[in-house]
Amino acid sequence: MGNRKASGNPGFYLGSILLLGILLVFMVDFFLGNPLYYQLGEYTAEEDAFRAMAFGEGNLKEILSMAGENGLSAGEAACAFMVEADYDLTEEKDGHFTYRSWHSLKEAIEKRKPVEFSKLSEAYETVLSDIRCFPIPRGDSEESRCYGYSDSWKAERTYGGERYHEGTDIMDIGNGRGFFPVVSVSDGTVEHVGWLELGGWRIGIRAPGGAYFYYAHLDSYDHEFFPGEKIRAGQLLGFMGDSGYSPVPGTVGNFDVHLHFGIYLRTDHYEELAVNPYWILKYLEEKQVKYSY
Ligand SMILES: [Zn+2]
Repeated sequence: MGNRKASGNPGFYLGSILLLGILLVFMVDFFLGNPLYYQLGEYTAEEDAFRAMAFGEGNLKEILSMAGENGLSAGEAACAFMVEADYDLTEEKDGHFTYRSWHSLKEAIEKRKPVEFSKLSEAYETVLSDIRCFPIPRGDSEESRCYGYSDSWKAERTYGGERYHEGTDIMDIGNGRGFFPVVSVSDGTVEHVGWLELGGWRIGIRAPGGAYFYYAHLDSYDHEFFPGEKIRAGQLLGFMGDSGYSPVPGTVGNFDVHLHFGIYLRTDHYEELAVNPYWILKYLEEKQVKYSY
């Protein structure tokens, strides 16, 4: 009587089964939901290096205008150059890439990991395929040029707890709320509209290629938008303001007047993965639509 050997203890068996179960869940998660799926070179699509979209001055213009001539999609060209440059092209300028053949570069990188190359190219393609114009149109007045923005990707923000900035703020320099028109950078469909505690009066538009473009802190909307409504690139969405940072709809004045512009992707692992809009905006600034103001 009183055989207390561990092997005869039902608690031991239960514990072992539980442990094995946990191990199994980890293994399934690792092999099926492996976050390194997009890994090509040192970084993955979920990491800051990719999300910073560090295209640099003039390079995106070159990629978007020359990819076709080089037999590549914009996503493939962007992917090849970015991976080769460790996801940072800011040292290059105006597309004076040191690689003679775009196609052979793409093939060399694709050869390393074809599945990952195709996935990552798709992610770039999603970001780049629908951008058409800068969100602030060109006006006729001197004041219409009084806006500014800088690369504030990952800058600290404190409202609603510690967090990082995941977009670009286009600041109104002294004109006041309601002055700057805001237009859609792409064609697409309204996905979300109305009040958000952080974003104030915001509108989110899903482009045909899958990117989600987010415009926040508006002063007013052009009209009452509804989810599912079709939008054309360059269409007026509303006017720049300072709404937000409150659960109370209509709250203004908690910060300077600006447009918060965000770009989000869906990936295998994230429903919403923010990428840095800064260099994309730099590229789009040459493509302002006209508006009388
Ligand atoms: Zn912002």
